[in-house]
Amino acid sequence: MTNSSFPLLFEPLDLGFTTIKNRILMGSMHTGLEEEKDGFRKLAKFYATRASGGVGLIVTGGISPDFFGRLTPGAAKMTSQRDVQNHRMITDAVHEQGGKICMQILHAGRYAYQPISFAPSRIKAPITPFTPFAMPSWMVKRTIRNFIRAAELAAQAGYDGVEVMGSEGYLINQFLVTHTNQRTDEWGGSFENRMRFPLEIVKGIREKVGRNFIIIYRLSMLDLIKDGQTPQEIVTLGKAIEAAGASLINTGIGWHEARIPTIAQMVPRAAFTWVTKNIKKELRIPVITTNRINMPEVAEAVLRDGEADMVSMARPFLADPDFVNKAKQGASHEINTCIACNQACLDHIFNRKVATCLVNPFACRETEWPQWNHVTVKNVAVLGAGPAGLSAALILGRRGHHVTLFEQGEEIGGQLRLASQVSGKEEFRETLRYYQVMLAKFKVHIKTSTTFQIDDATAFDEIVYAAGVIPKKIDIEGSQLPHVVTYDRLLSGSVVPGKNIVVIGAGGIGIDTAMFLIKGCEPETKHEFLNRWKVDETWTQRGGLSKDKAAAFLTRNITILQRSKGKPGKHLGKTTAWIHREELKILGVKFFDELQYERITPDGIEIQRNGEHVMIPADQIVICAGQTSNTAMLENLKATGKPVHVIGGALRAGELDAKRAIEEGMRIGFAI
Ligand code: NAP
Ligand code: SF4
Repeated sequence: MTNSSFPLLFEPLDLGFTTIKNRILMGSMHTGLEEEKDGFRKLAKFYATRASGGVGLIVTGGISPDFFGRLTPGAAKMTSQRDVQNHRMITDAVHEQGGKICMQILHAGRYAYQPISFAPSRIKAPITPFTPFAMPSWMVKRTIRNFIRAAELAAQAGYDGVEVMGSEGYLINQFLVTHTNQRTDEWGGSFENRMRFPLEIVKGIREKVGRNFIIIYRLSMLDLIKDGQTPQEIVTLGKAIEAAGASLINTGIGWHEARIPTIAQMVPRAAFTWVTKNIKKELRIPVITTNRINMPEVAEAVLRDGEADMVSMARPFLADPDFVNKAKQGASHEINTCIACNQACLDHIFNRKVATCLVNPFACRETEWPQWNHVTVKNVAVLGAGPAGLSAALILGRRGHHVTLFEQGEEIGGQLRLASQVSGKEEFRETLRYYQVMLAKFKVHIKTSTTFQIDDATAFDEIVYAAGVIPKKIDIEGSQLPHVVTYDRLLSGSVVPGKNIVVIGAGGIGIDTAMFLIKGCEPETKHEFLNRWKVDETWTQRGGLSKDKAAAFLTRNITILQRSKGKPGKHLGKTTAWIHREELKILGVKFFDELQYERITPDGIEIQRNGEHVMIPADQIVICAGQTSNTAMLENLKATGKPVHVIGGALRAGELDAKRAIEEGMRIGFAI
């Protein structure tokens, strides 16, 4: 494959006063480094790494134009010369790598997670505990001036432009809709009044910064909330923003409070680019599309279909900073693909932790990981080709060790391969492809269908034990009956699913198993997804919400059980747990908690709940009750006297997830 595979992606974009070298924008992402001690030095390295990776234009995470616009107390703002000096580190580092960078100006409005916040009207957001104060008219005007001032300071700091954050439900969006704007002054009432706030901001910025400065406006094209904008209002606003001096229009899909997934893993790739296409027809300036675009092939197809002039990707640049260069060199198969799990990026941010990436623990820690220095070459055996073993083998191979990866199964992947069987989790197949390609590139010798024998240890200097986990056995009468199966046998296809199924355990794997039983292993089409979540594909309804009834799903009869009190998936990440629960509801999965198991019979399972005995009929019982470490060979291996390093599920099965496994693999990869 050569560069000509992506001719549109690598066509420069001429904005008249400046040219962007390709059609790829690294979208805005808050990393948490913004608020860290020494964070700007780390951010400079973070962005410079992506700039050297070839991306055409970068947009920073949201920076507040004033004190009350900050998302959280202590969040970054651009209000002083000190801020200018800090941001200089970023712009200098990016420019040194031949990149271009814009600063996003974001005012949180009622999404500010602090007791004193301001919004157009005094209406609380469902996603924060605080009720905002309504901005007095003088404050609205001052906030506009603050946006303009922040843009001026950004120019002084060396930015190539700014992005005005007008979507995802932040302050500007809050002015635009009656859902949050019930003012009766010149900033509320008619749409003309409601859109005055963003127009004054864009006009004011253009007047102050001159013609040769990029202004991107992030336009909310699909609010996905009740009383959101109509498509006509969005087009009117887009045209007015264009006339006010914007250089580019970026796409915003869904407010943060919307109850429709827009970027999570189960959202089909490029599921919302059709919305950008609707706006593109109405404007003369270039438009940028976004959401669930994670490979160059997808981005190229979007451009080829005329849906946008440029493609924004954010998380894919956490997963692989060299995304663009790899695509350019015809090596897109070497891209470490973002699997849209949110586990190490957005979930970290919600937990006030610095973001990183499940598939790339280097992300946002560019200044912390060791260099690829010279090693004393050793023969290393890695036992187990699940996420921990794959990750260790790759780093060891890249560092020049002679590595042999042993896997008892027929294929590599372990728990990753099982997860990849679930519809909505097929992105894990990209992770498997990545490891397959990269292990071959770094000459790791893979032995599948091979059980490591103790005598084999003599051929190796060190051993990495990554034998993973085994499903936990349960102690319920009748659990030996033939219709009782563990989840791994079901997901690997070695048993055929029943019709009436009880799932024991409501953790991540119980939910995944229910999804597999209902939706199978094939991804949903965009239409199926949009229909099921009632998104208005005709783009005629206010807020983008369809009034039609979603098409019924052909389902099995599934009941999930859990002994303790609490919702299913209670330990899953904040950004995705609600989606899984909503999906279970939409798909008609029953769930019971606070119960005791009595016995499994050939006809089902007997439980006790609220003091009553209940029989749930079932022709299959699936055990998803967690796992235990697979330590079968460990003691014998240690007895050989060779250094043995235990990682991943074999080390600790509780709370196991791929994020920890991959990171542990990397750390041991650097330690040997
Ligand atoms: P888990 O989250 O620990 O859940 C185990 C479930 O089994 C619980 O509902 C538990 O509830 C039940 N259980 C435990 N012991 C039992 C017993 N002896 N008898 C009957 N029921 C029992 O484990 P998991 O679902 O296997 O997930 C493993 C790890 O992978 C977790 O850290 C999970 O977060 C992660 N994961 C994440 C995702 C994701 O999408 N992010 C997907 C899959 C897995 P009760 O004890 O109350 O009955
Ligand atoms: Fe993508 Fe998951 Fe990495 Fe976030 S943590 S960038 S969603 S792969």
